[in-house]
Amino acid sequence: MTQYRGRFAPSPSGNLHFGSLVAALGSYLDAKANIGQWLLRMEDIDPPREVIGASDSILRTLESFGLHWDGEVVYQSQRHEFYQDHLEKLIKDGFCYGCDCTRKMIMSGGGLYQGTCQHKAKDGLTTPHSLRFVNNDGVSAFDDRLLGRIEVGEDFANEDFILKRKDGLYAYQLVVVLDDMEQGITDVVRGSDLLEVTTRQLTLLNHLNVAPINYLHLPLAITDNGLKLSKQNHAKALDLTTRRQLLVQALQFLGQVTLVGYQDLSIDQLLNSAVKQWDITKIPKTAQVIIND
Ligand code: GLU
Repeated sequence: MTQYRGRFAPSPSGNLHFGSLVAALGSYLDAKANIGQWLLRMEDIDPPREVIGASDSILRTLESFGLHWDGEVVYQSQRHEFYQDHLEKLIKDGFCYGCDCTRKMIMSGGGLYQGTCQHKAKDGLTTPHSLRFVNNDGVSAFDDRLLGRIEVGEDFANEDFILKRKDGLYAYQLVVVLDDMEQGITDVVRGSDLLEVTTRQLTLLNHLNVAPINYLHLPLAITDNGLKLSKQNHAKALDLTTRRQLLVQALQFLGQVTLVGYQDLSIDQLLNSAVKQWDITKIPKTAQVIIND
């Protein structure tokens, strides 16, 4: 049997907040309950969105919550050559082409790209352009370990999605798949905001002949006005002076039993008992409101 290899893959666009603690904790507990490895990958692929110091602060915060990763941290910013090599192979094999459509043009066509540039691009484009995947065999459904069968529309499943952006940055869909492949990830546990795009990742994984990955999407923490708790909408950073309470709150959010007398346990003891009791059938399937005061 293949050994379980999971990962947590934060983007350093700000400090960790309660929603990211839930994702980190859920992926950690699932890995450890399955006697697996829990790897850490810093998704610092988008410098304009990066906040200086956030990478280090995320690592320190995880450590202070007892969430110790296995092996070295992988930084996407150091892997451009690896991404470029794979991209060039896709281009060489005819699975990638340039597209200079603007967002406005795509929106006026209904919001999904219609393959407009696929033939036009044969001789190369001189204007700034993105690179898109020739999506001949888009995946439109998969079985989530928590949520069951997830289906997306055929138009979305078959869209020629972007692999490299017009501004020269690698797209998340490309790098997440290449890294999950190269790190030998067997199980991804993360927030439900990435539920639909999982089909794109499965499409690319299939194209690259990678053994299927198992996915489990956790409920999102949302604010009382329905927005996802995120760095973009100013979710408050975790208060490290209340770590034990925050861990218990995150465990409750994930529907896990919390021990009576947890106040007397150390962070490590709390995590160890949470690993022993981890039960994915107890995780709620819908988003829950967290007061972000
Ligand atoms: N870096 C992504 C984020 O912070 C998560 C990617 C993933 O888990 O696949 O939202």
